[in-house]
This record gives sequence, C-alpha cells and structure tokens, in this order.
Amino acid sequence: MERERTCIYSVVVPVFNEEEVIEQTYRRLKAVMDTTKEPYELLFVNDGSRDATVEKLLRIRQQDFNVKLIDFSRNFGHQVAISAGMDYARGRAVIVIDADLQDPPELILDMIGKWETGYDVVYAKRTARKGETLFKKQTASLFYRTLRRMTDIEIPVDTGDFRLLDRKVCDELKGIQEKNRFVRGLVSWVGFRQTAVEYERDERAAGATKYPLKRMIKLSLDGITSFSYKPLKLASYGGMALSIVGFVYMLAVLFQTFFTETTVPGWSSLVVIQLLFGGFVLMILGMMGEYIGRIYDETKDRPLYIVKETYGLSAQEMRGPRSLRHG
Ligand code: UDP
Ligand code: MG
Repeated sequence: MERERTCIYSVVVPVFNEEEVIEQTYRRLKAVMDTTKEPYELLFVNDGSRDATVEKLLRIRQQDFNVKLIDFSRNFGHQVAISAGMDYARGRAVIVIDADLQDPPELILDMIGKWETGYDVVYAKRTARKGETLFKKQTASLFYRTLRRMTDIEIPVDTGDFRLLDRKVCDELKGIQEKNRFVRGLVSWVGFRQTAVEYERDERAAGATKYPLKRMIKLSLDGITSFSYKPLKLASYGGMALSIVGFVYMLAVLFQTFFTETTVPGWSSLVVIQLLFGGFVLMILGMMGEYIGRIYDETKDRPLYIVKETYGLSAQEMRGPRSLRHG
C-alpha cells in the first residue's frame, strides 16, 4: 500500500490508566515528530485501561489521523503492549516510549540522528532518575548490575525500553515468540549495530506509577530467567559448599568424640542445621519453579495478547496473533 511505504517513523506508546497525562503526552510527541517533516504514526497501545484513556485518545484521533490505537481486551502488561506495538508498526524506524513523559520526547530527534548515521538500535541511557523513590532507584540499579553479571549477552545497564529500532530489528523481534518477555534483553540479543544516547529521566508528568513492587519483581525474574541459567547452578554450587562444610564438621565431631573428654552438644545444633538445609533446599526448588512455570507458559501456545479493537489500522495491515503467523 502507498501509505505503508510512506510511513517513516512509528512511535509506540503503551498506555495503562494514563488519562491524566495522555493529552499532554500527545501534544509533546506531536510537536517533536512534526519537526522531522516526515510522515509518522503515533501508535498507542491501550493495555486494558479502566479510566478515560481510550475515550481521550479517540477524541484526539478525530483531529489527527496520525494517531492510531490498538485496544487490548484486558491488561496484558507493559512488555506485551510494547511487543504488540512493534507488531503493528509500519515505520522504517520504530520508537518505543513511555506515556508518562518520564522519557523526554525531544530525545527522539537525537535518536533519529544516530539512526541516520547507520545505527540499527539507539537506546536511551539514564544518567539520573528524578522524582523516584530511593528504594526504586536502588533496586533498579541492583537489578541491572546483577543481570549484567549473570548473562553472557551485553544488556546495557540503566536503560529502559525507551529506544529506536530499525525496521529490520523490529522484524526480528516480531519473530520471537517468548511469552514472559523482557524486551530490552531481546533487543540486545538480536544484535546489529547498537548505540546509546544519554538523558536524565524526568518525573512522571501526572498520575502514579503502574509498576508496583510486585510487577518490578516479575519483570526482574523474567529478565534473569530469560537470559541466564546461573540461578539453577546455585543448587550444585551451594550443595557442594554445604557438603564440604558438613564433612569438615564431621571430622571435628569425630575428633572430639575419640580424642577429647567433651561430649558433642545435642539437638539444638541439629535443629539449626536442619532449618538451614531445609530453607536452602526450598529456595532452590522455588528457583526451579520459576523456570518450570515459564517453560509451561511457553508450551501452552496461547497468543501473546488479544486485541479488542484497532483504530486506524486497516484489516489489510493487521497481523494475526503470533501463533498464527508462525504456526
Ligand atoms: N504500562 C502498561 N501496562 C502495564 C503497566 C504499565 O502499558 O501493565 C505502561 C504505562 O502506561 C507507561 C509505561 O508502561 O506508559 C511505564 O509504566 P510506568 O511509568 O508506570 O513505570 P515506571 O516508569 O514507574 O517504572
Ligand atoms: Mg514511568
């Protein structure tokens, strides 16, 4: 189609209950994208919002047909919403950005600049995070560094999902069917020429975070389990270490029994050891459970998401769910 060929930039914006900020986000994105003088689309993915986000977006769309909307049947999560946006995006470059203006839209122009010089992925690296709790900053920092130590692929630290992807990278990502997705890891995994632009992360323009602790933990576990087997090895290393400690202790006990007058103290030390071992074994089992649960998710072959309705994306442009496309 004619329009298909002429769309240069797709801006993918996942939204979940963002009624307070959505209009402001639209205005800033539009202002930035208009300066490129190229055809573009603002592709919002409504991740099951229960507020007026969709109504507001549809009202905006009445005036501006560059605005398009994918409306999910329910909340599927941030990473899935991003993936859906990539599935539907038409642009030669696809930019993923949060809806809350923590990622400054103006930075997109810098990303485009790098893309034009030949980079396939331009990710935005946070040099500072404003308006976030110390707890969030610390845990995020710890997570990025743990992940880097655990994985063999180079996942850049302190980068979120705010990035520009060339069409070919986007196409590769569309072929990856993982259910528990950690998109920024997958982007590193596909390779190509990648570079960074640095920025200071702003405060949320309005509304509250949609990433409570529970979701942060899920995301971290997805990141670690999708890119590292190291936690599984903990069982063998830990088991080995404990056996050695146990053996040394046994020698000490034997020595005490045969060569000294003191008797070996009884049940309280046994209880302590029992609890330690029990805890350790359960922890390892839980860790294995994280992997097994994810294997189960992959085998079920459910589609990654269900779209209730699309706006501005004609039937011809639509893609089926992943399982159909690749099945
Ligand atoms: N988001 C989403 N689905 C969710 C949670 C979040 O689409 O289940 C969107 C949200 O609307 C925002 C982006 O993902 O555009 C990042 O979320 P948020 O700003 O709340 O995360 P934080 O910046 O606090 O980590
Ligand atoms: Mg945010």
